[in-house]
Amino acid sequence: MSSQDVVIALTKGRILEETLPLLEQANITPSEDISSSRKLLFDTNLPNVKLMVIRGSDVPTYVEFGSADMGVAGKDLILEYGSSGFYEPLDLKIAGCRLMTAEPVDAGPAPDRLKVATKFTNIAKRYFAEQGKQIELIKLNGALELAPSLGLADAIVDIVDTGKTLKANGLVAKDLIAEVTSRVIVNKASMKIKNAIIKEILGKLREAVVRKHG
Ligand code: AMP
Repeated sequence: MSSQDVVIALTKGRILEETLPLLEQANITPSEDISSSRKLLFDTNLPNVKLMVIRGSDVPTYVEFGSADMGVAGKDLILEYGSSGFYEPLDLKIAGCRLMTAEPVDAGPAPDRLKVATKFTNIAKRYFAEQGKQIELIKLNGALELAPSLGLADAIVDIVDTGKTLKANGLVAKDLIAEVTSRVIVNKASMKIKNAIIKEILGKLREAVVRKHG
């Protein structure tokens, strides 16, 4: 890879499906079908632009340390990563959802020290501290909706889209912690060293977002 190449780290899954059309409008198209490939690094129609496809929670790390110059990641994962080690110049307004607290539909009065299960431990710690509430954090990586009914937690902090997952597990959303959409993040050194090309890509992506949302 040449030192003037721009590597863009993309979040695989649903965010990727919504990112690719925006990239295409910015004249960046992968040279092969990403969804049917097991590769992690892809060439594009532009000789100096490469795409990486990784887990969303790894995008901030790759961008902060400069292995990727730019990235697309959900605001939830950016908040959880909690670093100011990169710029966040653009909201792509895709993959919208909410980061919320939720509790059982039939929850009684909250105990003095709420047990909260989540994979977003940094966000939960910060949020409840701001509320002046003492909590006990329980880190889970999945199926947290089960935690309250099995007695592991009094509440959870999770992503809510339609609310169907919560409802199916006897939970109800309570407090909004953050509105989430996917953002473009940029490595601070890359923004200086590769300014012309990064600015051009950001400008075209911004136009694509405006075309879609007005
Ligand atoms: P829902 O049942 O529609 O409220 O969807 C909730 C589940 O879908 C959550 O547990 C999330 O894991 C996942 N989900 C929904 N939207 C998103 C998103 N934009 N980004 C990441 N995960 C999401």
